[in-house]
Amino acid sequence: MKLHEKQELYIYNSLTKNKEKFEPIIEGVVGMYVCGPTVYSNVHMGNCRTFLSFDLVFRYLKHLGYKVRYVRNITDAGHLENDADEGEDRIAKKARIESIEPMEVVQRYTVDFHNVMNAFNAFSPSIEPTATGHIIEQIEIIQKILDEGFAYEKNGSVYFDVLKFNEQHHYGKLSGRNLEDMIANTRELSAQSEKINPQDFALWKKAEPQHIMRWPSPWSDGFPGWHLECTAMSTKYLGNRFDIHGGGMDLKFPHHECEIAQAEACNHISPVNVWMHANMLTLNGKKMAKSTGNNILPNELFTGENNLLSKAFAPVVAKFFMYQAHYRSILDFSNDALEASEKGFHRLMEAYRSLEEIEVGSKSDFDVPAWRQSCYDAMNDDFNSPILIAQLFEATKFINSLKEGKAAITPSDLEIVQKTMHDFLFDVMGLIDISVTASEDGNKLNGTIELLIELRNQARHNKDFATSDQIRDQLLEIGIQLKDGKEGTTYSLN
Ligand SMILES: [Zn+2]
Repeated sequence: MKLHEKQELYIYNSLTKNKEKFEPIIEGVVGMYVCGPTVYSNVHMGNCRTFLSFDLVFRYLKHLGYKVRYVRNITDAGHLENDADEGEDRIAKKARIESIEPMEVVQRYTVDFHNVMNAFNAFSPSIEPTATGHIIEQIEIIQKILDEGFAYEKNGSVYFDVLKFNEQHHYGKLSGRNLEDMIANTRELSAQSEKINPQDFALWKKAEPQHIMRWPSPWSDGFPGWHLECTAMSTKYLGNRFDIHGGGMDLKFPHHECEIAQAEACNHISPVNVWMHANMLTLNGKKMAKSTGNNILPNELFTGENNLLSKAFAPVVAKFFMYQAHYRSILDFSNDALEASEKGFHRLMEAYRSLEEIEVGSKSDFDVPAWRQSCYDAMNDDFNSPILIAQLFEATKFINSLKEGKAAITPSDLEIVQKTMHDFLFDVMGLIDISVTASEDGNKLNGTIELLIELRNQARHNKDFATSDQIRDQLLEIGIQLKDGKEGTTYSLN
């Protein structure tokens, strides 16, 4: 029997604004799509929070025994400045400023994004499709929407006719916006606009001569509208109706609203069963923004190279910190809060490690099966990771009294505690025990490497370069990199 047959998972659906019992369309199988990054700059911490929230969802669904196909796209074309239908493509703009090819921009920041996600120990999605790799599919969808009568062409561009769509469907049902209000609150269209109504959005844009990212289409040489790629890639890999669609809260409108409209216009079916939205990350109580300097990049966090930080924080500590808030709540990032999380993180890891040394008895002073179920109950309640973590701390208290000889546990209960801690710490939250290098063992390791550095220096002094190179290379092989500098030799753990 799979775990998901025993555990009842409830997920908050942004579309119905209710927590609903999760039942996949196909028994035992889950299709999940999450809007990925636009790769025109380094991924920022707010985006990381969204992707780590869905890493938790992905991991928990897998833990429950579901076969999950997780699709997360890379936006490498069509996303214009200000999320608008006019203006420069974000990637093309970066390429112009740096005098490089747009695909060099895409490559650079896709690699950065992957490195950061790996550092956080996030799983890769099952499929990571790109917008530029799916131009043909996007053109096909535009043609279908035109055939259905919900779009119009103007001077080589194609726009979605929101008012026409709204006559038979409901535009605004996800964001809770009302089309009449939207119309009342918008200014008159500028004379240059090709749109019939300001609410209409671009499906295809004819490229201006200076626009370098362009593809041929039946309407013009141009590029797809930003919302279209997600409709094309989600339905291509997950079908016209799939289980879960996720993204940051800021994508609810217009991006996800437009995705629903496109898919319904094209396939006559609402594309998604459960819409999930992860909330914002603020920094010291304020919105993170590059322009104001109230911003921390993941790499600055990992190295401590930012004035807002007192030290470096391990990626998994930052991840643990994020999971101490529910994904639908706003989370404020600060140096103090991170330091507090770091202590808690080490307490949990320490408790887990010490389970190895616990002596068992003939009774248990802790209702282990009930505690284990309460860990599942937390996650079954819309992935409530802060409650899960509180439950793990409950176990930590008990483990500490076991260590002090103030409580007892049976061998079978100890096994359950060990497995449950392992499952939730490492499989579901994807944490890594980094304490080995940060605590007493770290001192031992440090001493050992210092000794090797000293031996290497002696070898170099004796011109025995074979030995000195051997020490350096073999350390590198096990992930310890020596760096020679003015101040002597230092090392880092890769
Ligand atoms: Zn999207």
